[in-house]
Amino acid sequence: MTYSVKEMFLTLQGEGAQAGRAAVFLRFTGCNLWSGREVDRQKAQCRFCDTEFVGMDGQNGGQFTTPMSLAQAAAKLWPGGGKPYVVCTGGEPLLQLDTPLIDALHDAGFEIAVETNGTIVAPDGIDWLCVSPKAGVPLKQKSGDELKLVFPQEENKPEDFEHLDFAHFVLQPMDGPDVIEYTRSAVRHCLSHPGWGLSLQTHKWIGIS
Ligand code: SF4
Repeated sequence: MTYSVKEMFLTLQGEGAQAGRAAVFLRFTGCNLWSGREVDRQKAQCRFCDTEFVGMDGQNGGQFTTPMSLAQAAAKLWPGGGKPYVVCTGGEPLLQLDTPLIDALHDAGFEIAVETNGTIVAPDGIDWLCVSPKAGVPLKQKSGDELKLVFPQEENKPEDFEHLDFAHFVLQPMDGPDVIEYTRSAVRHCLSHPGWGLSLQTHKWIGIS
């Protein structure tokens, strides 16, 4: 397996239940719900994406021909101390993250988090699995550590997911011109449905990637 990486960098996790934690973000190229090209957005299965995941031209991006070479490149970005933490994201990371890479990242000392759209069943061995379901797309991964729902979505209501096997359920206000109104609405929902918590994209406020 060859791994195509858009970018890889040290940052703080900005959102969800692990917000504030130092992490190596390992962004894979490609997604199964959108080509990543603006010309295709309106006909894509997922249309509110705010991530650039095409190509391998980002910071520390490139093609890695072995799991070990990728794990070692990620490990070089960790400054030492603490518990090394890698967040595999994309695009859709489960198009590429496989058992040999999970083993190599563990061997390099990492605790492994994954942020997925839930359309692919995750392999075993992931330490923190965050699923963010997309409207109108069948959800295949129905268990994990965190279910993160962009809110509001006409076709994806919080109550549609409450029966699933996740330890944390969070609402993340949809970004864009109405984010303030959506944030208020998400706060109201969390207050009246305490099984849900609020996920804010704090990295956007503090100006980090
Ligand atoms: S599934 Fe995720 S990466 Fe893919 S287009 Fe949607 S938001 Fe973007």
